[in-house]
Amino acid sequence: MSSVVQEVLSANQAYVANFGDKGNLPLPPGRRIAILTCMDARLDPAKYAGLVEGDAHIIRNAGGRASDDAIRSLVISYKLLGTNEWFVIHHTDCGMQLFTDEIIRGLLANSLETATIDENGWGDVGQGPGSPEAEFVDWLTFRDLTESVYIDVKRIRNHPLVPHTIPIHGYIYDVKTGQLIEVPKATEVGQVSSARTVAVATYA
Ligand code: ZN
Repeated sequence: MSSVVQEVLSANQAYVANFGDKGNLPLPPGRRIAILTCMDARLDPAKYAGLVEGDAHIIRNAGGRASDDAIRSLVISYKLLGTNEWFVIHHTDCGMQLFTDEIIRGLLANSLETATIDENGWGDVGQGPGSPEAEFVDWLTFRDLTESVYIDVKRIRNHPLVPHTIPIHGYIYDVKTGQLIEVPKATEVGQVSSARTVAVATYA
């Protein structure tokens, strides 16, 4: 057994010893919150948003992007488990700003080993073979952090499976301070709207 596995299992034993009555928690999130955020190791949503077990759905991927799969989770989150207020939280110094689809496709075409980065950009030191499969993945990279939060909130807001009654808030987490900073135009586009009700009324 690797030392990492031993460390994880040892930590889990300590967790189990102090598990308390959490085995009685209901399945739906108690605070009816869902957060879509980045997988970055520096972000701990439970800590930065003050959550404990049973409070919220945390949906994480590279960038905290509103991918089809992230939206799948959000739809299940409200439709079956009752969340009614959502956050999209990207963060400063996100790795997704450090490459493009073209770059990662080139690196993966070369080898499947971990690439390196220095002042000259990304380099691939692997022996290969790589794979052209990366050509078929949309890596959802972005350049502008504020814009990425706005685009993602807007995409979720306009999704046909997302009800207009769920407010969607857009924030950036500052990795230097731990602070959540609102992206006003994202929160604005994510606010609840009566647009659909009006449309239905007009149609009727
Ligand atoms: Zn990130």
